[in-house]
Amino acid sequence: MNLVAATPVLLAIVATAAQAQETAPAPPETIVLRAAYLFDSTGTTLKDGATIVVRGDRIVSVGTGAAPPGARVIDLGEATLLPGFIDAHTHLTSQFEKDYYRGVYNRIMRFPAEQALYGAQYARRTLEAGFTTVRNVGAEDFVDIGLRNAINAGVAEGPRMLTAAHGIGSPGGHFDDYAFPPDRVKPWGPTEGICSGPEACREAVRYQMKWGADLIKIAASGGVLSESDPVDVPQLTPEELAAIVSEAHKWNRKVVAHCHGDAAARLAINAGVDSIEHGSFLTEDTLKLMKSKGVYLVPTRMAVYWVSKMADTYPPKIAAKARAAAAAHGDMFKTALRLGVPIALGTDAGVYPHGMNGMEFGLMTELGMSPAAALLAGTRDAAKLLGVEGDLGTLQAGKTADIVGVQGNVLSDIHATEHPVFVMHLGHVVVQKTGS
Ligand SMILES: [Zn+2]
Repeated sequence: MNLVAATPVLLAIVATAAQAQETAPAPPETIVLRAAYLFDSTGTTLKDGATIVVRGDRIVSVGTGAAPPGARVIDLGEATLLPGFIDAHTHLTSQFEKDYYRGVYNRIMRFPAEQALYGAQYARRTLEAGFTTVRNVGAEDFVDIGLRNAINAGVAEGPRMLTAAHGIGSPGGHFDDYAFPPDRVKPWGPTEGICSGPEACREAVRYQMKWGADLIKIAASGGVLSESDPVDVPQLTPEELAAIVSEAHKWNRKVVAHCHGDAAARLAINAGVDSIEHGSFLTEDTLKLMKSKGVYLVPTRMAVYWVSKMADTYPPKIAAKARAAAAAHGDMFKTALRLGVPIALGTDAGVYPHGMNGMEFGLMTELGMSPAAALLAGTRDAAKLLGVEGDLGTLQAGKTADIVGVQGNVLSDIHATEHPVFVMHLGHVVVQKTGS
């Protein structure tokens, strides 16, 4: 063997070994979180003392014991640790504008790349508000799919997103609300989620799923923030609903129904949708039907609060719809609560400025929901609706380390959820405003 010839080979082997040593991943850090209280969402009780051990992106244990030696300890003191919050109804790629028409203009005129940059900012704001998972229910130009992919790849910082792409609705309905002359702005079709007849609606659903929709959103009835349609009438026929639901369910995608009207809700529930969003005019009989079929109500009290507050700033037709829906919504929510309809927290973020999502907890308790039930709606129960309860929604060994800390005892001050002092997402500390 020629030593001269062998030397470069040997050097190469030595160099590769050194490189491998340098790039070998460090074992994941162990972090121990301590706080005075724990609400783990496995039940309705608050426990005294919390020691949560996290390694990598997983929860190793939840208890009250001592920290393992060598771990980094974060002690939040007089705070409550909870599972990362889940918002089942967001629009991360659009934002509230004080001038309604300015908002419409922004949605139409911004390039997709521009929308994505705004969306990344709203996503970060949402995560910092303690919402580590969102179900995003309607966006244009597949910007939501792009944002989700970028967050998953670590390019943008934001909550875990389950997203719908374009909402599916009828021409002229709630999702087709741009009244521009057709020779100036191209009318929307199935590609943008707008369809007439079961075959076109099937095509619309398939198109969203083809490009990566995790779920399907529909406009079962009219809406508040669209100018031309009555708020409560059905906007999809039973045949269209059947086509949409069967197509989505074949792919194991849930169907989320935007719905204010009672007749529209009954059609949607009988077609097999998985949740009714808003639900303003739902009657007791329809709420009973939801309970019997296990259909969730996502009440979006935050949207009701915001559009009532802003009613004077909207065009008159929208203001009238906002007031009518808000007037009915409170009693509907109380009836749903009394009947025990499953409720998941959702806020309609984007209708109001992003980052205020935590107000939903307090708004639900104002109508008689207990603070513990409100917290479950925004953690464990929302996880069930999203189909992610195996991994998220409670603080338990083996689950993903999405953890929020709020000041004090959360059951005595539910509003503490509006300003989390600590947010951990996938084991990474995103916010830490207190403790050592
Ligand atoms: Zn919405």
